[in-house]
Amino acid sequence: HYRPQPQSIAFSELQAILLETPKEEKAQEWSKYYTSGPHLAGKNYSQAVWTQDRWQEWGVKSDIVAYDIYINYPLGHRLALYENKKKGKDDVDSWKVKFEASLVEDVLDEDPTTGLEDSIPTFHGYSASGNVTAPYVYVNYGTYQDYEDLLKANISLEGKIAVAKYGGIFRGLKIKRAQELGMVGTILFTDPGDDGASTDENNVTTYPKGPARNPSSVQRGSAQFLSVAPGDPTTPGYPSKPGVPRQPVEGSIPSIPSIPISYVDAIPILKALNGYGPSSKDINKHWQQNQGLKYKGVDYNVGPSPDDLVLNLVNEQEYVTTPLWNVIGVINGTLPDEVIVIGNHRDAWIAGGAGDPNSGSAALNEVVRSFGVALSQGWKPLRTIVIASWDGEEYGLIGSTEWVEEYLPWLTHANVAYVNLDVATVGPIFHASASPLLNKLLYEVTALIPSPNQTIPGQTLGDLWDGRISTMGSGSDFTAFQDYAGVPSVDFGFGPDPEAPGNTGGAVYHYHSNYDSYYWMNTYGDPGFHYHAATAKLFGLFTAKLAEAPIIPLNATDYAIALDKYISNVESKLSGTAEEDEIEVRARPTPNAPKGDLEELKVSFKKLHKAAKKLKKAAKAHDAWAAELAEEAGEDIPWWKWYSKIKLYYNIRRVNSKYKYLERQFLYPEGLDGRPWFKHVVFAPGLWTGYAGAVFPGLVEAIDAKDYGVAQKWVGIIEGSLFKAAGSLK
Ligand code: GLU
Ligand code: CA
Ligand code: ZN
Ligand code: ZN
Repeated sequence: HYRPQPQSIAFSELQAILLETPKEEKAQEWSKYYTSGPHLAGKNYSQAVWTQDRWQEWGVKSDIVAYDIYINYPLGHRLALYENKKKGKDDVDSWKVKFEASLVEDVLDEDPTTGLEDSIPTFHGYSASGNVTAPYVYVNYGTYQDYEDLLKANISLEGKIAVAKYGGIFRGLKIKRAQELGMVGTILFTDPGDDGASTDENNVTTYPKGPARNPSSVQRGSAQFLSVAPGDPTTPGYPSKPGVPRQPVEGSIPSIPSIPISYVDAIPILKALNGYGPSSKDINKHWQQNQGLKYKGVDYNVGPSPDDLVLNLVNEQEYVTTPLWNVIGVINGTLPDEVIVIGNHRDAWIAGGAGDPNSGSAALNEVVRSFGVALSQGWKPLRTIVIASWDGEEYGLIGSTEWVEEYLPWLTHANVAYVNLDVATVGPIFHASASPLLNKLLYEVTALIPSPNQTIPGQTLGDLWDGRISTMGSGSDFTAFQDYAGVPSVDFGFGPDPEAPGNTGGAVYHYHSNYDSYYWMNTYGDPGFHYHAATAKLFGLFTAKLAEAPIIPLNATDYAIALDKYISNVESKLSGTAEEDEIEVRARPTPNAPKGDLEELKVSFKKLHKAAKKLKKAAKAHDAWAAELAEEAGEDIPWWKWYSKIKLYYNIRRVNSKYKYLERQFLYPEGLDGRPWFKHVVFAPGLWTGYAGAVFPGLVEAIDAKDYGVAQKWVGIIEGSLFKAAGSLK
């Protein structure tokens, strides 16, 4: 085998570089650059080139990889409330405009990027053009069960416009269900009740003077039906290269128009419903939560509005097929067949996007700059590192999904892990989601990074973190890696303090609004950019450990233990003893009459536990073997020391290749029922949640539908994967 000359630097030296190089001022500079003007998907070429230039300047070879994607840009919109007091419904002249929504966010003197001439209108990605006039219904969060509650209360939905609050589930799914029920349009508004105590009801000053939500803020965002498949909706499963065949988009994006609005614009519309139809508390007790506009006189009646009180909703979108650009940097390692990919998206809904995505972009740049410093001091990584600045995340994870679809054979063969950043620093509370294979590394590395907020000197990020690691759902660029390619992935960042939004010092994050700006970040989100720097240190060191540790730092035992726990969770769901997340429950379709044999299904869980036990045994043995080899290779030993010992080299490569392929064992080529793009049997976005992850999605969805025959099929598939995984470690 190849015996290179000693080169590179010791890991301790690399670690010191990665902890010392990231600087607040630099992150601030990158943030300022990226937030200075619009950079919508497919309209940010200058920022792609700028990013490529910086990375090259820092010593990292980079390319721009383009795809031709089907995408929409806003042309126009209108939302008006019409009333006909004379009741001459057919008499055009007797209709009067009762309220005309502004559909714009206020320009703020303090916040310069809110007043740009080319600022991006409020609209939904992948929304349908249309001009509809109809009575309207308030549908709460627009979860599956919210609509079911309305149907149960005999509220007529067909032909009406849905007015839904943001929150709980992915926005596109609110529109999807409205469309399925024959509704003709959807309006999504931000209810300040969901930001905690953040209204002037309790005298918290609103942005820009204070930390509470600015009343005119609007959440833009994609309306695509995420859980069907991410990526370009015209090319599911293959890359959107120029000239490829395109599939029809029905079923993946809405056919009814939708627009997002602020709570200022929502108030008159909701108030006009006062007295019409049941009060939301009579629909379902859940509906009373977080109703932040009561003090503004909104009673939250559900409607429908009478025939003489209607909304006119106009949404005009231009659909084009146009290039978007990923910037891909590569640091070649000694091992070309062990690759670590890290990434963050670059496109944003607004000129600013200081939180989303540019807190991630600024931190990523600091990581690349730090890698550059290490390279200039002779570092050559053991594994190859690929660095991505994705485009088109906001519309539907497009840049990352198309790239994974294009390079799938190579990624399948070589990709060890994917590390994602997105909304990296919009508050002080650390959060993470990961494949359980990466849990251990996450605990290890967070314990090495000093926390920007130290109540006791010397505290690390790990000390101030509750240690909870969520399962991977969706909503960011890890999705194609984890769910489609079977690459263990992780996503982390710092979010707002849920205990203190808007009042005790915590600031409300203006997600997808013009107020997610540099000024907001510098004033409320991360003054001093300390969390940006901490994120860069964590991201860099996490990646370096993945790239450099002689033994790939994945832990198979953690995965096996997690899987057994997931199996028990599904079991307790079957026996009705599960503690379930409220929003997931409310996002679930109402089941039909039971099909198949429930008792038989319950019994078959024994098989799953048995298979998980087998995997656990194999995993423990594998991790133990890996630990022995790690000891033999030595800690902080540059790779060339073990690389030239033939037997050790051979064993390390064997152990690592098993780690590398472990996650792949959970891919099921036919994919999930009804959404074959999603190949992972353990993780997927929930069918009707979108963001929140479902565990054993095929099985759990069948159980929710009380289709025990299909559930039985999934028990077989999962059992097969567990055995395959155990076998792969032998
Ligand atoms: N981060 C984007 C959002 O949550 C993802 C959009 C998508 O997956 O379609 O809006
Ligand atoms: Ca595609
Ligand atoms: Zn984002
Ligand atoms: Zn976003």
